[in-house]
Amino acid sequence: MNRILITGGAGFIGSNLAEKLIKKGEYVIVIDNFYTGKKENIFHLLKEPNFKFIEHDIILPLKLEDEKINQIYHLASPASPVHYQRDPIKTIKINIQGTINVLELAKKTQATVLFSSTSEVYGNPLVHPQPESYLGNVNFIGPRACYDEAKRLAETLMMEYYRRHKVKIKIVRIFNTYGPRMAPDDGRVVSNFIIQALKGESLTVYGDGSQTRTFCYIDDMIDGLIKMMQAKDFLGPVNLGSPKELSILDLAKLILKLTKSNSKLVFKPLPQDDPIRRCPDISLAKKELNWLPKIDLEEGLKRTIEYFKEKLKKD
Ligand code: NAD
Ligand code: UDP
Repeated sequence: MNRILITGGAGFIGSNLAEKLIKKGEYVIVIDNFYTGKKENIFHLLKEPNFKFIEHDIILPLKLEDEKINQIYHLASPASPVHYQRDPIKTIKINIQGTINVLELAKKTQATVLFSSTSEVYGNPLVHPQPESYLGNVNFIGPRACYDEAKRLAETLMMEYYRRHKVKIKIVRIFNTYGPRMAPDDGRVVSNFIIQALKGESLTVYGDGSQTRTFCYIDDMIDGLIKMMQAKDFLGPVNLGSPKELSILDLAKLILKLTKSNSKLVFKPLPQDDPIRRCPDISLAKKELNWLPKIDLEEGLKRTIEYFKEKLKKD
């Protein structure tokens, strides 16, 4: 049995990961301060004997040496543009001081740390699809920089702790991921469109909707993260995401079809520095991890629509 720490484990990706690892029989400790995560995401895990929750802000030092942790999934950070731009200086502190605290813990415990970086390190990319070798095109004084640059510097920290202190590290660049337990209020496109469609409200398309993204279903992402943690002698960075690129307008139309909604589309201004095209090159993940997303977009959206239908009934 591994003893695994998940920072940010009450969030969307973290809570799905915690659930999966517990099902596999691992011992899981979640640290979270509910900055963007929710108690209800981990409530059902509290009764599990091999699960422990610690409420803690990772900006403060982590004193967990006695827990004999051997793996750390470091996910704590606001992730959606709405959340990470709410308090940009805090976003920087969480990713920088928080990552230093996690790496110091790993140095003491010799645990392997997997850092959840992001496709945002490529900024508004000029290369398509984006391979890991692409160094990106980030506006470092723009409104997204608090997240993009903090994640880039956190990758630097990971590499320096590896080079100088021999900490065992892994870096994953996560591309847009969706599925059950996304926060309904975090402003991401999939949750916004589904909730708007289910409520019969207009779908808010930013810009003319021609900007592209790819969408990876949560179960595939969890599978990739676990494979990366288990991979021998491979520290990344590695892209994880769906390679199926589509425009935001096409996503809106697909969600209207799947929800059988009569909602209209309303066009709003495109936020500053919103990437115009994004699509991962996942050949490295294929080669090193034998990983490929399996759940197609329609199937994943159907499952997510069911989740939000139930949620709207309860709330
Ligand atoms: P999320 O907001 O649902 O989860 C983040 C969790 O971190 C929340 O539970 C939050 O409360 C916690 N947290 C934030 N600050 C904290 C602090 N100071 N101390 C302790 N806990 C703190 O986001 P998510 O979508 O689950 O993202 C998880 C990670 O994956 C993030 O690091 C994010 O940058 C990265 N990522 C996600 C996506 C995506 O599409 N979801 C894409 C790229 C990268
Ligand atoms: N978007 C949109 N309407 C919304 C929310 C987002 O058109 O209600 C667009 C946004 O401008 C971006 C894309 O959808 O081009 C993905 O946005 P999201 O916030 O989900 O993630 P990002 O990839 O920008 O981090």
